[in-house]
Amino acid sequence: MFITTHAAIGAFIGEQLPTHPYIAFAFGAISHFLVDIIPHGDTQLYKDYTAGKKVRSSIAYTVIDAVLAIFLILFFLNTVTSDAKFAVTMGIVGSILPDLIVGVYEVSRVTWLKWFHRLHFFFHNMISDTRDISFASGLGMQLVFLAVLLSFLT
Ligand SMILES: [Zn+2]
Repeated sequence: MFITTHAAIGAFIGEQLPTHPYIAFAFGAISHFLVDIIPHGDTQLYKDYTAGKKVRSSIAYTVIDAVLAIFLILFFLNTVTSDAKFAVTMGIVGSILPDLIVGVYEVSRVTWLKWFHRLHFFFHNMISDTRDISFASGLGMQLVFLAVLLSFLT
């Protein structure tokens, strides 16, 4: 999923647990793996990237996604009630962290992170390896999901 989508889910989790920031962090991290199971149209993009194809567009999508996630997080932190702020922050951190670790592994290839990379893609490719949707469908699905989730958030 997009970082933006994970961030919104993490914020939602944090809002439900305003006095439990560390549980929000844990649930945020767990949510990352679970929602990644849903086919969301980026499996081919990642396969192309690892094969050295469409590398520029992969990087461009990631940068756009990351900047949008920053905007969304700024919005959350400026609208959420102050007593839930830390839990929302921790929910977002937990929900994004798995992709950050995957990114660190992608650029460094440090062996001690290999297991995490494998774990991430075990969930990510569980269904989408054989039955992924198109990138456009994945984008549309996540936009609808974001709109619904945002309507539940402050
Ligand atoms: Zn992921």
